[in-house]
Amino acid sequence: MNMSDPILVNVTEEIVRGLVSFLLRGPEYQTFCKCEICEFDTVALTLNALPSKYVTSMEARDEAFKEMNTPGNIERINKEIIHALHVVNKYPRHKVEPTS
Ligand SMILES: [Zn+2]
Repeated sequence: MNMSDPILVNVTEEIVRGLVSFLLRGPEYQTFCKCEICEFDTVALTLNALPSKYVTSMEARDEAFKEMNTPGNIERINKEIIHALHVVNKYPRHKVEPTS
C-alpha cells in the first residue's frame, strides 16, 4: 500500500484491539471467556470510554500510533480494558459456559 493512499482508521481502536487480544490470552485472565462475542464486547466497551483518534493516511496513522504508544497512555488504556474485561466476564452476552 502506498503511504499516500487514503484510509479511514481509528488508531485508538487499533491499539485497544491489540491490547485486549494480548491481555485476554495472558495468565491473569485464564478463566475468562475468549470467544469473539466477549472479545468484541470488551473492545466496544473500552472504546466507548476512550476518545477516538481517526486518521485518513498511513503517515498520520504512524504518527498518531507513536504519539499514543507511551507508557502513561497505555496504562490508562489498560485500566479501561481491565474494567471492561471484568464487566463482560460478569455479564457475558451468551448463556453457555466460557469457551476457549
Ligand atoms: Zn464468550
